Amino acid sequence: MDLGIAGRKALVCAASKGLGRACALSLAREGVAVTINARNADVLEATAAEIRALTGADVTAVAGNIATAAGREAALAACPAPDILVNNAGGPPPGDFRDWSRDDWIAALDANMLSAIELIKATLDGMIERGFGRIVNITSVAVKAPIGVLGLSNGARAGLTGFVAGLARDVASHNVTINGLLPGAHDTERLHVTLQAVAAKSGTTLEEARASRASSIPAARFGSAEDFGEACAYLCSRQAGYITGQNLVIDGGAYPGTL
Ligand code: NAD
Repeated sequence: MDLGIAGRKALVCAASKGLGRACALSLAREGVAVTINARNADVLEATAAEIRALTGADVTAVAGNIATAAGREAALAACPAPDILVNNAGGPPPGDFRDWSRDDWIAALDANMLSAIELIKATLDGMIERGFGRIVNITSVAVKAPIGVLGLSNGARAGLTGFVAGLARDVASHNVTINGLLPGAHDTERLHVTLQAVAAKSGTTLEEARASRASSIPAARFGSAEDFGEACAYLCSRQAGYITGQNLVIDGGAYPGTL
């Protein structure tokens, strides 16, 4: 299917690895010119070169921490008028809420809620003027089914989700959509680190921890980054213009609810 977005411009945050990288790659395959952001310039440049080689697309790499004003300014200077914005940042650490200070909460809110809102604020009116906009916020299945030890993530991502639920309806008549894409367990570096911690805590091997977690998923496997990137590209397509204010779980059936 031709997604009808060739020649569009996208800003994809936190995209040197994992799910952000996969979203950038899937968009680039559709002929979208992508600007990618991540903190480490060398890793980011290598990813940009890979995406260029795989797709022939125009790829710009801008290093910076998207949770900071300076990081966002640099990304927006390179891509001031994106048609597509994919918001993403690393997830907050696990822990017990009794140990979290105000600074811990502010860091989680900056990364997983406020940075996305600031980037939407900087780009939304241009999308409205041009009559086309697709915003995808990478959040987590924790928005629908909270994960006990990830209270910072549960809270910050739910805050973003609640805010954009209202905004999405305000701008829908301009062909600007805002949706959440909720990863379950995808085989990225983040999952690897999480499973290493599970194995260490339970005294099992990493392989056992992987097999046990994968077997708990109805699809009997982890999601690939590509599974996620392709869903993102579809939400950014011309055809997806009537899908807005939604939160799509990509988890191989792991979320147990009917709706
Ligand atoms: P990852 O660790 O594989 O990749 C994260 C990417 O984000 C890297 O490129 C990293 O350099 C970049 N990054 C992190 N913080 C950044 C910042 N402040 N500014 C700029 N770049 C930054 O992680 P992933 O698996 O791709 O996860 C992406 C998001 O999805 C995270 O918020 C994660 O918590 C969430 N998530 C992932 C899963 C999963 O199974 N992989 C499940 C639920 C939620």
